[in-house]
Amino acid sequence: MPSFEPVIGLEVHAELATLSKMFCGCPVVDSTNAEPNSSVCEICTGMPGTLPVINQRAVEFALRVALALNCDIAETSVFARKNYFYPDLPKGFQISQYEMPLAQNGWLDFETEDGDRRIRIRRVHLEEDTGKLLHREGYSLVDFNRSGVPLLEIVSEPDMHSTEDVKVFATSLRSLLRYLEVSSADMEKGIVRFEANVSLRSKGSQDLGTRTEVKNLNSFRAMVKALEYEIERQGQILMQGGEVQQETVGWDETRGVTVPQRSKEEAHDYRYFPEPDLPPLQIDPAWVDRIRNELPELPGAKRARFVSKYHLTPYAAALLVEERPVADYFEAAVAHDPGTSPTKIANWLTGEYFGLLNLAGVEIDRSKVSPQSFAELVAMVEREDINATSGKVVLEEIFETGGSPIEIVEARGLAQINDPQAIMDLVNQVLGENPKQVEQYFAGKTTISQWLFGQVMRAAGGRANPALVRANLEQALKNLEESCRSGE
Ligand code: ADP
Ligand code: MG
Ligand code: ZN
Repeated sequence: MPSFEPVIGLEVHAELATLSKMFCGCPVVDSTNAEPNSSVCEICTGMPGTLPVINQRAVEFALRVALALNCDIAETSVFARKNYFYPDLPKGFQISQYEMPLAQNGWLDFETEDGDRRIRIRRVHLEEDTGKLLHREGYSLVDFNRSGVPLLEIVSEPDMHSTEDVKVFATSLRSLLRYLEVSSADMEKGIVRFEANVSLRSKGSQDLGTRTEVKNLNSFRAMVKALEYEIERQGQILMQGGEVQQETVGWDETRGVTVPQRSKEEAHDYRYFPEPDLPPLQIDPAWVDRIRNELPELPGAKRARFVSKYHLTPYAAALLVEERPVADYFEAAVAHDPGTSPTKIANWLTGEYFGLLNLAGVEIDRSKVSPQSFAELVAMVEREDINATSGKVVLEEIFETGGSPIEIVEARGLAQINDPQAIMDLVNQVLGENPKQVEQYFAGKTTISQWLFGQVMRAAGGRANPALVRANLEQALKNLEESCRSGE
């Protein structure tokens, strides 16, 4: 039986967060909640006789992305008309870059569970977004707020071979767009949109099979599920000796299937020609250098630095650097208290703290817990001033109130009991109060020691040093056993 390998390339569209649109002065508004058609003019609605003007900021944003993706920047690029009819496109064409894109031949490196990956980037170009149709019963409405919003298209080479590759590529790219502050890259709101091209080929072959293009992917989860489905579907066809049709398919989330939308259009269907109303875009290399020098530290470099500087695992570092505010928060906490292990700070941050943030739906830069308070909390646990259980209680409280961890530990009497005598007293008290369970323990039911441990912790109001309780409990049981035996 032949074994197949998936081949996947992504086309990504990201709305750029410029103040105004790509070719006119209309403000870019949040098209999910702004009053429909409140940010439109004669240019972005395609009135005859109007002239587009290129938005310099959009070009700058595009260059940031292209440079971060290691692309060659074209000194001259050309806008073209891509002609097609659709009611959300009043001009009858979209201004896009076709034969001479802004940038080509880059790559994005990232790390997956299965190892390092380098995915080549075929091209990065600028275009404009279309309007939005709202379908009602029996009629449709059109909102042109999104018409002419700067759109960046990023096309990868077909270098991905698993849904894991795709997921990590997509999250890394989203992370990059956010680091560069060029787009909110919010997939749920459609600010960033992924289309996946997928085909199968025999393992070991270098040829490309016939592909389908999967659209309508509204989340990373949907993208992975749609690709799994498409890989399975194409595999069935090939296994039965059939041929895959080259076509565009849409992911139907509720039914969990892809449905054919149309046969694949070819470039000549669009009658591309250079936009006669715009001169070729000339880019000054000095400007490119300036933008390159101003790029922030990017996620990949930050991840490597976190591993070498703070001795974090690559996995922990990847979790911390995905969002820049989280990475900044981590470094602020470490800087506040260099005595505390960065690994402990990272564990508390990506464990308990992420849990609270997710539950409350709060971004870390809006949290009431300052990096300083957070570092103090972790330090208290590390010094064994409080145990981990109390640490969680305190974190929950400062998360709600923004108070100081030290004051809360005092006010709530959470300081850990580390005095061996006090702990031994508690152990003896519990053993004395539970003769039946002690008997069961000696009769061979050793799991009862876990229950006894829980009783001691309860008697201590949860504040006892768990390691000391365990050691003392073990010792006390051993003593009891010996005294029983010698008493026989
Ligand atoms: P278009 O969709 O406009 O025809 P391209 O032919 O350049 O554009 O390809 C678009 C995307 O499809 C790219 O990301 C590319 O890597 C990917 N791709 C091209 N051929 C294949 C294939 N045989 N299998 C999987 N992906 C492919
Ligand atoms: Mg395509
Ligand atoms: Zn406009």
